[in-house]
Amino acid sequence: MPKVSAFFAKKTTKKVAARISNRDGGLYFYEVDTLGPVPPSVFLHASMLEARIQPKGKIMVNYPTDSWVNQNNPLEYPYDSPEYSNTEYRGEPQLLTPNMKHWNQFSLDKLGAPPNLPSIYDEEIPAAHSRARRIYMLATFCLLKKLGFVYTDRTLGHNIGTMLVSRTGKVLSWGVNTGEYRHAEVNTLVGYFLRNPTETNLPVDSVLFSTLKPCRMCSTFINQAWNGGKTRVWYGMMDEGESGATPLLGTQSTKFTGGELELDVWELLSESGTLDSAIKAKGTKPVQVAYQGGKVDLYDKLSKSGGSTRKMSAADWVDKSPEVVALLNAAVTKFQGKAGKARDDGPIKSVLLYLKDFVK
Ligand SMILES: [Zn+2]
Repeated sequence: MPKVSAFFAKKTTKKVAARISNRDGGLYFYEVDTLGPVPPSVFLHASMLEARIQPKGKIMVNYPTDSWVNQNNPLEYPYDSPEYSNTEYRGEPQLLTPNMKHWNQFSLDKLGAPPNLPSIYDEEIPAAHSRARRIYMLATFCLLKKLGFVYTDRTLGHNIGTMLVSRTGKVLSWGVNTGEYRHAEVNTLVGYFLRNPTETNLPVDSVLFSTLKPCRMCSTFINQAWNGGKTRVWYGMMDEGESGATPLLGTQSTKFTGGELELDVWELLSESGTLDSAIKAKGTKPVQVAYQGGKVDLYDKLSKSGGSTRKMSAADWVDKSPEVVALLNAAVTKFQGKAGKARDDGPIKSVLLYLKDFVK
């Protein structure tokens, strides 16, 4: 009987993730040379989900996971190193072929002519361009509605959306959560690298908008695709739970100032009056969410409610909270209201015209 370690020894030039099937004892693996910084273990895991295989077994890898998992807060994901793999297996290893439509289902059709802004990347930009940048954040919230992805159960993933935008305002890729490993950011990154197969990094000075602060896993992928600290992340909702507790993005670049936009977005939304009771001016009061029959502040008190010091990730309640769903709806209403008017000829109008049919 061959050993799994013998298989890994033959694969030293490629990143490989493998698992032994509980069903037939066979060794299944996925290898990847491209598709950016997302490791093959994520693709392997996705393949298992697509094949309706319970992804509980060990996934073995021949590359160090500590490069993409924060060692201080190890993720409870079933990865293991090849040393584990003295397990015997029967038959020949089989290469899994993931269903890539899950990764590139997020079409860029219906986008209008790109606005060609001077820059939405720079920290200091004229007020009109800063407002245009906020439109992208609103549009990212709209993505969740675009595919009817506002749901209240977890079978399809969480209510989180992301959009990758070039320095000049062209949408390069987007995604929403569609599963345990297919986070919105992962779908967005893989979608970008599928469309640009020769690239291994995100474009210089591109901007990633995310409705929720990226989790540790996604932060690591973004970090690795960052191309020398030149991609900036803006997020709409803070996650102070375990998943969001990563210094990866923050330490990579001092220019990571998502909080500023968080206030902008909340301020924009509260203008509509829809969420006045939940969102105070400047976002100084956290949004409240329904939790265990009561209401608690958005990201500060969930740990105390459960009698545990462990803070829930915001991703765990983002689907369940009527207030967060209201936030999403308010963003859509706000965007559509602005798109319906779009009077001035400045950058806001060009961005709204560009995105209006896309996010519909
Ligand atoms: Zn994530």
